[in-house]
Amino acid sequence: MSTIFTKIIEGEIPCHKVAETDEHIAFLDINPIAEGHTLVVPKKEIDYFFDLPDDLMQSTMAVSRHIAKAIDKGLNPLRTGIIVQGLEVPHAHVHLIPLYKENQVMALGHNVSVSEEQMVELKEKITAEVSL
Ligand code: AMP
Repeated sequence: MSTIFTKIIEGEIPCHKVAETDEHIAFLDINPIAEGHTLVVPKKEIDYFFDLPDDLMQSTMAVSRHIAKAIDKGLNPLRTGIIVQGLEVPHAHVHLIPLYKENQVMALGHNVSVSEEQMVELKEKITAEVSL
């Protein structure tokens, strides 16, 4: 059975997409821990991040860097942090977390409330800085 991320990639489930290449898609996390929390997902359905082939791991990190820089420009956090967890969705992905405060907790499960209107605005601000 396809993962929820494959369903997003195939357009069966909607998302707030910020970027897409032949091999990757990036979209806002539906349950964010910070405003602009973004996931970078290789389209190839591989469960465990550290099972990605070398070239796909490298391109995933290169796309993640690009999207992190777009978050930095678009949302102006202090930094953008990165998490790889994979306990919920068995489809390799990188979490990019804008960090707006020195003491911000960067741990999945510490969710913030973001309205649909804000999600659209956040997506547009990041997308405007993407040039993949
Ligand atoms: P993990 O697999 O532990 O790295 O976490 C999976 C992440 O995917 C969580 O932060 C979820 O909020 C997020 N997520 C699950 N379903 C969706 C979806 N349909 N759209 C966007 N993000 C999702």
